[in-house]
Amino acid sequence: MFMTIPSPSPEAVVIVGGGFGGLFSALAITARLPDRPVVLIEPQEHFHFQPLLYELLSGELQPWEVAPTYRELLSSRGICWIQDRVTTINLAGQELTTASADRLTWSDLVLATGTEPNDFGIPGVREHAFGFRNLKDVTHLRERVQDLRQQHEKDAALVIVGAGPTGCELACKLADLLGGSARIHLVERGPGILPRSTAFNRERATAALERRQVCLHLDTAVSRVDKDRVSFNDGSSLRHHGLIWSAGSRPSLPRTEPPQTKPGEALSIAADLRVLGQEHVYALGDCARYGDDPWPATAQVAMQQGDAIAAALSAVGQGQDPEPFQFQDLGEMLSLGVGDATLTGLGITLAGPLAFRIRRATYLTRMPGLSLGLRSAGAWLLNR
Ligand SMILES: Cc1cc2nc3c(=O)[nH]c(=O)nc-3n(C[C@H](O)[C@H](O)[C@H](O)COP(=O)(O)OP(=O)(O)OC[C@H]3O[C@@H](n4cnc5c(N)ncnc54)[C@H](O)[C@@H]3O)c2cc1C
Repeated sequence: MFMTIPSPSPEAVVIVGGGFGGLFSALAITARLPDRPVVLIEPQEHFHFQPLLYELLSGELQPWEVAPTYRELLSSRGICWIQDRVTTINLAGQELTTASADRLTWSDLVLATGTEPNDFGIPGVREHAFGFRNLKDVTHLRERVQDLRQQHEKDAALVIVGAGPTGCELACKLADLLGGSARIHLVERGPGILPRSTAFNRERATAALERRQVCLHLDTAVSRVDKDRVSFNDGSSLRHHGLIWSAGSRPSLPRTEPPQTKPGEALSIAADLRVLGQEHVYALGDCARYGDDPWPATAQVAMQQGDAIAAALSAVGQGQDPEPFQFQDLGEMLSLGVGDATLTGLGITLAGPLAFRIRRATYLTRMPGLSLGLRSAGAWLLNR
């Protein structure tokens, strides 16, 4: 049976998805427009600060620092959190339906549903590969590391597919955690690692992988994954004791009526972050795309867009046109194993333990308005 949850007021802003884009939109709107009720719909109990998941895996940070609950984050901020998943959005009727069959109307809607792993239809990936996106994934991987540390097989192998930032960062961290008890194989379909990174970060990452004797397989495409074996397009295969898929993701969006995209496609947005043809619907982060030269799919972009949406709603409320979103690139930071990192940006080019500490402090303190984030950064700085 359907139940309609009455919106708190005709002015309600409803945000779908509480990752970087959704959470930061909610906080920015509440700060800028305190009279507008904000409702955040997010199925997971914890917000995941994904750039710091590596430090959670290694035990360098704790779950409460990297994955606080929405209850903790939002309860004192007057933002209503509904723990549910949105299934359908009726654009003309300004109404959405959730998995629990509740219905909710909005005055303005913000879509921030991010991405899901893309297995490109390769057999066995869904069944046999680990992901690396949330607390559950970290727990599974930690257990696998513990198992591998206790086994005595000479040729034990952990395979990571995809040598983008996640694959390279994870390879370094896992190599340190395994301490030689298994070999890390990093498999990449392209001719090199980190194609979108700066030359400095790429060089530092290459050196960090070499130091840890990570076995790099370039120009190698996975054709099939089985429980203990991965096969490649050139006919070769490798026995594995765990395979992590970091080879790609695709936008994940609830169904809209009328449809705005094909499955797996991002929503097309205008420069002011409104969905094309929709005056009261905004989209941001990894589920949205602007033009042919989109902004990178990063937390940095999603957070800045959250602020921009609050500014846009404020402008519209004053009868003005929203300003186009301008991405301010603050640089790139990569974690490269326990206590090590590289960074370019913020006017700095740096690698090593100091870069590691700057990276961690930068991320932890880059949570404006999140007292937990600031507290954890403070705790970390005091501990060193
Ligand atoms: C391991 C890892 C490390 C990373 N490191 C960095 C980094 O160092 N720097 C950087 O800038 N970026 C980094 N990123 C990328 C960054 O995390 C993403 O670009 C960012 O999270 C995108 O924000 P988003 O709001 O678009 O999506 P997400 O943060 O993925 O949030 C989407 C949210 O929507 C929810 N959702 C999905 N569907 C529905 C639905 N139907 N109804 C309701 N809710 C829904 C999901 O549960 C999720 O919480 C990293 C990513 C990973 C996985």
